[in-house]
Amino acid sequence: MKIVFATNNRHKLQEVAAILGPGVELVTPRDMCITEDIPETADTLEGNALQKVRYIFERTGVDCFSDDTGLEVTTLGGAPGVYSARYAAMAGAGAPADFGANNRLLLKNLEGAEDRSARFRTVVALIAGGHEHLFEGEVRGRIIDEYRGTGGFGYDPIFIPEGGTQTFAEMTAEQKNAISHRARAVEKLKNYLITTYRP
Ligand code: IMP
Repeated sequence: MKIVFATNNRHKLQEVAAILGPGVELVTPRDMCITEDIPETADTLEGNALQKVRYIFERTGVDCFSDDTGLEVTTLGGAPGVYSARYAAMAGAGAPADFGANNRLLLKNLEGAEDRSARFRTVVALIAGGHEHLFEGEVRGRIIDEYRGTGGFGYDPIFIPEGGTQTFAEMTAEQKNAISHRARAVEKLKNYLITTYRP
């Protein structure tokens, strides 16, 4: 089975490819000569996921899905949330998707905070057979006050999932994929593709 994944983020591509397994061949926007940044200007994860998948579908006419993810920190009222990629950029402290700048700002904003609980939430949007579908996954955990590990991407070095001792960045790709927000959403997508999808 072949389907377009509306992302130019290589980390997401690797994670999702591993979760979907060898039975699903992922095509990227770049493979279809769409090289510009895909707009994501909505104010919810659902809105962004739909905006990205519609953008690619309108240009290719091919069934496709997208992923939009946010880190929601309780003490910060759910921030950075849908603005996770642009967290530092919006504060004038870095370029969009500058992982280092985002992590530094988050740790600064959490200095002295007692409650460091947070969750990652992923929304996957699929356009298939002319219909739109949404799948969601989340993982709860906490933000630590140092960087640990070199794997993963984004906020992974400062996030420890509930019940664990390692950050996502200290885990192997398989360990992160066994419990992550993205894996939980993509497993639902996979189940839909396997049971219902007829390209
Ligand atoms: P996006 O808008 O879905 O591309 O992701 C927003 C931002 O969230 C990214 O720039 C990353 O900083 C962060 N992010 C997304 N997924 C993950 C993850 O699995 N681990 C850590 N950070 C992530």
